[in-house]
Amino acid sequence: MTERTLVLIKPDGVARGYVGEILARIERKGLTIAAMELRTASTDVAATHYAEHEGKPFYPGLLEFITSGPLVAAVLEGPRAIAAFRQIAGGTDPVERAVPGTIRADLALDGGQNLVHGSDSIESAEREIALWFPVLAQR
Ligand code: ADP
Ligand code: MG
Repeated sequence: MTERTLVLIKPDGVARGYVGEILARIERKGLTIAAMELRTASTDVAATHYAEHEGKPFYPGLLEFITSGPLVAAVLEGPRAIAAFRQIAGGTDPVERAVPGTIRADLALDGGQNLVHGSDSIESAEREIALWFPVLAQR
C-alpha cells in the first residue's frame, strides 16, 4: 500500500548545500517525489507545523531556525514512505540517536539543526501535507 509523507530539507540543509545529497539518498531508497518546492516558511506555518512542541524549551529557537531561510518542502510517496524516510533520516539527535549511514548521523552534529523533517504517522502526514501543499491534500 502506497503512503505519502511530508519531508522538509531544513534551512541548514539548503544553506550547507546538501539538497542534492539528501534528494539522492531519497531517490536511492526508492521513494518518489510527488511534490517539491523551495520556500521560506512563515512563522504561522512553522508554528502550525510544530504545534506539538509548543511550550518546550527548544520551541522558540526551533521556530526561529525553521523560518531563518529557504527550505525544501516535499511530498514523498512509496510503500511505507513515512517509516522509510524516518529510517534514512535517523534519530533526532545526530550524535546520540542517529545511526551511521543515516542523513543526520552522516551530515549533522546539532540536535536542533538536524537537516531534515519527516512526518511521524499517517495522521501527521495528512495534517502536514494539508499545511504545506493544500492542493495535493484535496485529492
Ligand atoms: P523529529 O524531527 O526527529 O521528529 P521531534 O519531533 O522530537 O524530532 O522534534 C522536532 C524538531 O525539533 C527536531 O527535529 C529538532 O530540529 C528540534 N528539537 C527536538 N528536540 C530538541 C532539543 N532537545 N534541542 C533542540 N532542538 C530540538
Ligand atoms: Mg517529530
